Amino acid sequence: MSNQTLIQRRQTVPVVIGNLNVGGNAPVRVQSMTNTDTADIESTVTQCAELARAGSEFVRITVNNETAAAAVPRIRERLDSMGVPVPLIGDFHFNGHRLLSDYPACAEALAKYRINPGNVGRGEKRDAQFATMIEIACRYDRPVRIGVNWGSLDPELVVRMMDDNAKSPSPKPADEVMREAMVESAVSSALRAEELGLGRDHIILSCKMSGVQDLIAVYRMLAARTDHALHLGLTEAGMGSKGIVASTAALSVLLQEGIGDTIRVSLTPSPGESRTREVVVAQEILQTMGMRSFAPMVTACPGCGRTTSTVFQELAEDIQDYLRDQMPVWRETYPGVETLQVAVMGCVVNGPGESKHANIGISLPGTGEQPSAPVYIDGEKVTTLKGADIAERFKTMVNDYIVQRFGHQ
Ligand code: SF4
Repeated sequence: MSNQTLIQRRQTVPVVIGNLNVGGNAPVRVQSMTNTDTADIESTVTQCAELARAGSEFVRITVNNETAAAAVPRIRERLDSMGVPVPLIGDFHFNGHRLLSDYPACAEALAKYRINPGNVGRGEKRDAQFATMIEIACRYDRPVRIGVNWGSLDPELVVRMMDDNAKSPSPKPADEVMREAMVESAVSSALRAEELGLGRDHIILSCKMSGVQDLIAVYRMLAARTDHALHLGLTEAGMGSKGIVASTAALSVLLQEGIGDTIRVSLTPSPGESRTREVVVAQEILQTMGMRSFAPMVTACPGCGRTTSTVFQELAEDIQDYLRDQMPVWRETYPGVETLQVAVMGCVVNGPGESKHANIGISLPGTGEQPSAPVYIDGEKVTTLKGADIAERFKTMVNDYIVQRFGHQ
């Protein structure tokens, strides 16, 4: 079936980050963030490389103290020497003005600075410290993301807007004023950055919240007020399926409305779980919406009483893992392979139909029968696999199909 997108992307001012465009006509970019101590160069390099190889187009690292700032240029060098050019984004809070001033090699090694206007400083210091960061961005010709966060919204702005609202003849509910304060913080900070000399093509905005409806409402307001490129993310999305579902629900609505130029899925990993899961989920959101292709997609039925043995589940998992594992090599060797559609189906009820719609599909016979699985290529049945090594033989057929279809381009 066609997965052609009907999305009309909102026109935004293009921004260049490292070697990649964001906004304008660029595809929606995937980014992620490390959870290592940035001062631990070895661990941070390893995780940045892992995230980049999984498909993260930018990797954000926290720069929270002097040791971290001193480590940044060394992390950049190490990644370059490993052939991992992924642009690094520095995440600054409270002391970013000082770290960027005192560690020029850090300022130079980073491709973008994330500035949280709620955590730049209080009172008189706020404007001066914000200005210092913007001046450094201008000096090194680096874009910034003005990243407002619900959990650290500028308290002075909130108090002022709440007071104004209370004096209004028809006051709005407090949560509505809070959402407006999020947008106001981002838009007014962007305006201030422009007044300080930073080009519009060097500014990305975000307003992250942890509630799905709040996030959608805020980004709709933001998109109506500005043409800056927007970074989307549901902050503190949570663990496991809750985090994935909440992020997908929020981001999908906004992406479908054409809002969003980069995305991050903020998942809390289980202990020991790979950080790359947030990259895979972000890619799958974009791919299942028909906006980009990253890896061959497997259509698999959920299984039911007709597939009570584990043969079908094992085959579906085996094929899915195999396709994703091969992608780092296939991406280079077989351009376009990411658009491949594979079907792995449990029985004859829907199996042959779905298999025919895929580029290559296999349908198992169902419970209690000897594994005997017809394989379809481009809609035609080509063979029936039997025996204990169906998975291996099907993988060989997938490989052969990829070589023939995507090789020599
Ligand atoms: S294709 Fe067959 S096994 Fe899969 S869900 Fe449908 S009826 Fe069940």
